[in-house]
Amino acid sequence: MTKCVIPIQNNRTRTGAVPVFTEGLYKLADDIYSWMIPNGSWGESNHGLITGRTKSILVDTAWDIKLTNTLLDRIKPVIESKPITTVINTHGDGDHCWGNQLFTEQEIIASTATQQGMYHVKPEMLQLIKKTSVVAQHIPIPRCKHFGQWFNHMLGPYNYKDVKITPATTTFDKELIIQCDDHEVVLFEMETAHTEGDTLVYLPKDEILFSGDILFIQGTPVLWAGTPDNWINALKKIIELKPKVIVPGHGYFTDIAGVQRLIDYWQYVGHHLNKQFILGANPVEAANTIALSNEFKAQGFLQWDAAERILTSATTLYRHWSNAPPSKPSIVKQLKMFSDQAELAVLLSKRS
Ligand SMILES: [Zn+2]
Repeated sequence: MTKCVIPIQNNRTRTGAVPVFTEGLYKLADDIYSWMIPNGSWGESNHGLITGRTKSILVDTAWDIKLTNTLLDRIKPVIESKPITTVINTHGDGDHCWGNQLFTEQEIIASTATQQGMYHVKPEMLQLIKKTSVVAQHIPIPRCKHFGQWFNHMLGPYNYKDVKITPATTTFDKELIIQCDDHEVVLFEMETAHTEGDTLVYLPKDEILFSGDILFIQGTPVLWAGTPDNWINALKKIIELKPKVIVPGHGYFTDIAGVQRLIDYWQYVGHHLNKQFILGANPVEAANTIALSNEFKAQGFLQWDAAERILTSATTLYRHWSNAPPSKPSIVKQLKMFSDQAELAVLLSKRS
């Protein structure tokens, strides 16, 4: 089980770390595969591949066109005689759907909320931030430099120039069951957690689950839209399904204990952020206090990749708790938040 059948040997991950597992196509059961990308940091998102006798289903495309093309090229031996006829997007973040435009002939399935969420971030905007960060990282003002370094680390390996948002051709709400020849594929839409419309993809016969970004393994989960309670409910749903193999959105395969760790994180972070909110701390103060505490480190959460993402989660939760309008904050406010996050990353790097 989970044997790497097409390994790719790289000395470094896309974002420059030493790989902790091999990139490649892993066979999970007869006809079922996943393409795993170490170590699961920014844009290093996994894909699922379900093959039947005559056709295949791809779960999630990549963050840009080149990477999606490379993926298709590498899995060619498996899909040559059973071409991809359907793509499923687990949610609307670019690193899971910005390769959709390569599938003009195929059906693209996503929840209605995911479909709407695909328009929240524009490729042109990320390309502009990427260009700006290359310059900013050399400016000898700490805030500019940190902002540039942080964004360059995230966006540097990717190219959004040719990306055109390509929406789903089929949308669903709550639940959808499709077939890939003999394989039943069940799509469960969760209440808003990581994003609006997060979808779990489950294969009942093979007991395999593709979780999308409901699961980050050894990486810090980020709450773009929902609440810790909704996220915990989605994690409990995974436990209830009792899958034998769990493919997270980011990171290596995991088991129920790995799912439980995420529940621990959201219980801990949700509780402490709320405590800070009641005390009158702003989101930056709240996130910094928690992430820089000895307790956070003792819990093992500091060791997860990009622990500074707690600030995005804090900002989202504060919007809920302040009954702010559901619309997304302005781009200026978002950039200020990411700049604060880059500052927190610098402080955290001195502690780990
Ligand atoms: Zn992702």
